[in-house]
Amino acid sequence: MVREWKQIADVLREDCEGSQVELRGWIYRTRGSNKMLFLVLRDSSGIIQCVGSRNDLGDGVFDLARSLMVESSVIVKGRISPDSRAPGGFEVQVNGMEVVSPAEPFPITKDQSEEYLRDMRHLWIRSRKLTSIMRIRSTLTGAIHDFFRGMGFHEFTPPIFTPNSCEGGSTLFEVNYYDRKIYLTQSWQLYAEAAVFALERIYDVSPTFRAERSKTSRHLSEFWMAEMESAWMTYMEVIEIAQEEIKFIIGRILERNPKDLEILDVDQERLRSYLEKDWSVITYTEALDILKDKGGMEIEWGKDLRTIEEDRLMEFFDAPLTVIQYPKEAMAFYKPLEGQAVDAPGPVAKCFDMLAPNGYGEIVGGSERETDIEALMGSLRKEGEDPKNYEWYMDLRRYGSVPHSGYGLGVERLLAWICALDNIKDAIPFPRTLKRTNP
Ligand code: ATP
Ligand code: MG
Repeated sequence: MVREWKQIADVLREDCEGSQVELRGWIYRTRGSNKMLFLVLRDSSGIIQCVGSRNDLGDGVFDLARSLMVESSVIVKGRISPDSRAPGGFEVQVNGMEVVSPAEPFPITKDQSEEYLRDMRHLWIRSRKLTSIMRIRSTLTGAIHDFFRGMGFHEFTPPIFTPNSCEGGSTLFEVNYYDRKIYLTQSWQLYAEAAVFALERIYDVSPTFRAERSKTSRHLSEFWMAEMESAWMTYMEVIEIAQEEIKFIIGRILERNPKDLEILDVDQERLRSYLEKDWSVITYTEALDILKDKGGMEIEWGKDLRTIEEDRLMEFFDAPLTVIQYPKEAMAFYKPLEGQAVDAPGPVAKCFDMLAPNGYGEIVGGSERETDIEALMGSLRKEGEDPKNYEWYMDLRRYGSVPHSGYGLGVERLLAWICALDNIKDAIPFPRTLKRTNP
């Protein structure tokens, strides 16, 4: 028979007052005297203070409990009683305890460096900070599935091993595949474009790999991208979907994770304010004007925006900003020419990036997709690629092509921004970067 036990969050309630409960978890903190035991118990749902006296517990259990190190796993039995000094307002008056597995002295103590904590990630993952981040991450990806399914999109799963580059060869990870060369996926896009001619509206949340050689607090080598692709839609239409998607995600996190946001010290009012605002859309050329007039930065038209320029630009916006129509020259081969652009001194593409406020940079990148086969081949040649390697992709333009658009949202970038994290490495359980592959 399964024994009944409760989660901590479920007993921190007035209607549990006085009830006898069993809790299972890990010792988070411990102190006490020869007569009294104070320990804080942790499980996946929260922490609770547990107190017991030598008299009530008896010498055997009391001495065993007093000898335990933090992170020992235990089963605690006792009565729930209100205590205004206890975190959560309630404590357990312990009347029984079983040790499941005693811990050795825990290697993580206060005031350790971020790098040490990353070396110890397999243990640091138990911290309240990382537990809260992982819980919010679970809400975030769940919200993406609900958002797209609610709009009639189908989940489509792309391959991870791919023979081609999608975002340029320099960030490809090469893999030895039965003595042949193959790559880890940089984006689902080419496959998504094949699938929209069957399913029309699709999305995914998938692992993505890019060999990012510059060390920044925004780039991981392995990250998760939530992408969407839709037949018949223009890039301006998918921008609206991206805005709605992110508002949906923020709303869901505010609703489901208020305690986690509190643990992370996130300003929930600020997050809520994003839901009410209209999010601006400006052109790349307008962005350069703002940077020049208000930001004191002169950028040559045609250059992609760098991190410092994106950050400066966002000082003038208090909600995510979409920048459209970047210079065609700097864009990937599949982004088509925008013939209707009015303010640009040179050719621009039907594309966009969405930037987050407060220095979190690009969270979404998207575009319409070139449907003209000659234009595609020309752009590939310009990038130094052989169009022959993209034969199957060209087929998509030969058999009833239609206008289509899509975007990729960086799960860790969005999470880092929502949780106000200092580094993207804390937005993924086990980060992979240029330097870090362990643990
Ligand atoms: P950046 O210029 O910041 O490197 P990108 O233009 O290469 O981004 P896209 O190819 O448009 O990015 O990818 C879509 C989204 O995936 C980005 O908006 C970002 O949120 C996320 N992303 C891209 N590269 C990384 C990375 N190395 N680590 C984490 N997230 C990333
Ligand atoms: Mg990049």
